Parts: sequence; C-alpha cells; structure tokens
Amino acid sequence: MQPKRLFLSVCFLFSLFAGFSQETEITKWQDGKAAAISLTFDDGSPNQFSVALPLLNELKIPATFFIITGEIEGSQYHGKFIGRPVEDIIKGTADTPTNKQNFFERASAVGFLGYKGTLTYHTNAGTLFEQEKFDAAYKLIDSAYKKVRNGEFQRSGNAQDADRHLTWDAVRKYAAQGHEFASHTVTHPRLAVLTEPNMIYELEKSKEEIRNKLGEKYTFSAEGPYGTEDERAMSYAYKIYPALRNRMPEEFLGELNRASKIQPGTVDKEYVQWQRGAVTTTSLPLMKSWIDTVVAHNNNWLVLVFHGVDGKGWEALPGSLLKEYFGYIRKNDDRAWIATFGDVAKYMRERMNGDVKVKESKNKFTVELTHSLDKKMYDLPLTLKTVVPANWKKVSVKQAGKTQTVPVTTDASGNYILYQLMPNKGTAEVSAL
Ligand SMILES: [Zn+2]
Repeated sequence: MQPKRLFLSVCFLFSLFAGFSQETEITKWQDGKAAAISLTFDDGSPNQFSVALPLLNELKIPATFFIITGEIEGSQYHGKFIGRPVEDIIKGTADTPTNKQNFFERASAVGFLGYKGTLTYHTNAGTLFEQEKFDAAYKLIDSAYKKVRNGEFQRSGNAQDADRHLTWDAVRKYAAQGHEFASHTVTHPRLAVLTEPNMIYELEKSKEEIRNKLGEKYTFSAEGPYGTEDERAMSYAYKIYPALRNRMPEEFLGELNRASKIQPGTVDKEYVQWQRGAVTTTSLPLMKSWIDTVVAHNNNWLVLVFHGVDGKGWEALPGSLLKEYFGYIRKNDDRAWIATFGDVAKYMRERMNGDVKVKESKNKFTVELTHSLDKKMYDLPLTLKTVVPANWKKVSVKQAGKTQTVPVTTDASGNYILYQLMPNKGTAEVSAL
C-alpha cells in the first residue's frame, strides 16, 4: 500500500471513533455531581452508633467508621508487645539512657509492662517524636521506666477485662446498612514510634481481624491514629491498606489535611481531598461553609472527620448539632455525591485508570468500560456521560443482562444521558426507546 493511502485511512478511522469517544466521558464524580463528601468517624466511641448512626440512616447517608479492632468484643487480636522479654528491657533502662537506637523498642514496650498508666508515656512520647522533639521524647520514656523500676505504678489487671461496648454482630449489622468499616489499628498507638514487628502487628492484625469478621471488602481503607503522616509509618501502611485517610500517594490527588489553611479551590490537581475536623469549638455555620465551598468547585472531595458524640469520645459534638448538619449535607446532594471514604477513593482511581470504547451503529451504540486495577477490589460502577442524537427522548442501557431506562437531559452542549456502568463487566448496549 502506498504511504499516502495508509495515512488517509488511518485519519478516517481516527475521526470515526474519536468523534464518539470525545462525546462519552467518565464523569468526575458519581452521577455527574460537582463534589464528593465523605463522613468519617474515628475510634468507635459508643454514641457514634447509638446517636449519630441512626441520624445517618434516617437520611440515607453512608459513613465510614475507623474502628480500633482490639477494643471490640470477641476480637482475636489485642494489644501486645512483640520483642524481648519486657523484664530485660526494664533492666536495660537502669544503666542506658534512652537514645535513637533503643527508643522504638522502649516506646513500643512501655504500654505493655503490666502496669496501670504507662500507656500515656507511649502516646506522649509519640507526640513529641512526631514534633521532632526527640530529646524530650527520650527523657519522657526514661521517666516512665524509672517509675517502673521504683515500683511507682500499680500492677494492671487483664486488659481483656476492659469495657467493650461494641460487638462484631453490631458492626456487621451497621455494615449491612451501607456503612463502611475500616481499620484504625489494633490498639490506637503512635505508629511512628513502634519497632517494625510492632508496627506490622498493629496494621496487619487489625486487617486480618476485619477480614475474618466482616470480609475482604472492608480491608480497603484505614486511618493511622492521630492523623499521622510519619514517613516510616506510611511506608508500612501503604503496603497493607489500599487507601489511607492519612495520605495517599497518587499524583492526581492534592491533599489538604485537617491543619491546612489552603483553600481547596486554589489547588491545581485533578482531584483535591480537603479534610476538615469538626471539634467542640467549630461553629455550625463554619461546618456548613465547608459544604458550600466544595459544591462551588468541581474537583473537591470533602472528608469530614468526627470523633466523640454526646459526651462520649474525644471532642464530642452534640447529637442535635449533628442532626442539623447531616440534614444540611443531604440538602446539598443535588451537587454533592455523598459516599464512604472507600467508595470515593475507588471512584477516583477507577476513573483515572479507566478506558471507554464506544462504537456506533444505526440508532444505537455500544460502550465498553474497563480499568486496569484489581477487578475484585475495584468493583464500583462509574457514571458515563454520552451525548445522544437530538431526537432521542428516553434511552435503554443494557449491560450483563440488566436494563436501565435513562432520561435524556439537555444543556448548552446538547442532549446527553448520565448512566452507570460496571467496569470490566462486558459491553453495554445503548439505544433509543
Ligand atoms: Zn483515633
């Protein structure tokens, strides 16, 4: 074939198919919404389930609960120290001050020495460490072990006697109502100051517990306690959980954490995750303004972080305030897609790794939606927007034996339809009714 003719036929094919694929896109958010909102609850405090969850259910708002798996009734894995006998560690503290070499071991063990009140030293040393106040962290650990050696702490009882208000039966019931349950580790430690085996235990055993009690689906998301962004902790957590609220590695996602003062509309990325923590000093008008802000853009994902409710848990918010706030979120659902943390993360990744092939024949066309991710974990339907001929009024979409009837909408760009397709589940047939 002459080179010129080849060039022409390639151009012809290109224009034929490019014409259609340009008119079909995976919308940025589910159902063509302008923003996404995820409500997340940390630590599993009791009133999250007795007060907040019924309010969410009334409004059909799915939420994500990051639970401390070791604190749930019936769990197999509880907090423990993995390493040398703690007596040897205690002995060693008598003549060697805490330093860079022994700090992680001592900080990992200090909560599990068999005494009441030593866990606080782990937590506070972790805070200092993450603030890069290393010497203060070492001194604090030294003071804990000195008190242990001097017999200043009371012996503790069995940790498994602790009050466990949440049961796996209850968690399974809430999950069946559409909520996401996700890991917040086994004991809520400061991951940044754990030795490798203790870090892996906290992350992996929590995942294993959730897999055994709830199923693989719930092993997708996690949150390392205290919103840590410690590099070493993150490097372990990334390998164990596909999606972390702390931080995610993708290039296309800008992330503004709870402390950030940057406005999400100023970030030039395909997507922006904007985390806001509602605490007791946060006013309801401010909380509402977060919703107003994200629906005014097109790439914002608002991730709300809640802790205590009605007097129980850290920074507990009144149920009455939550009721009004959840109602306000629901009122904005014409612009905002309200979904769990895991579903929004899946949507963005499927879309960014997705591919749509459209072929037209007379009065109908076929659409094939695929993505290159793990098909078992990434099984969320995506919304497609396709421009249809002016004379189409109602459209039928058939995929994998299921048929949906979709109305035609008109805007400045013409007539189009919005419809959900399952990725990697075969070609869909789209035709006028
Ligand atoms: Zn927490």
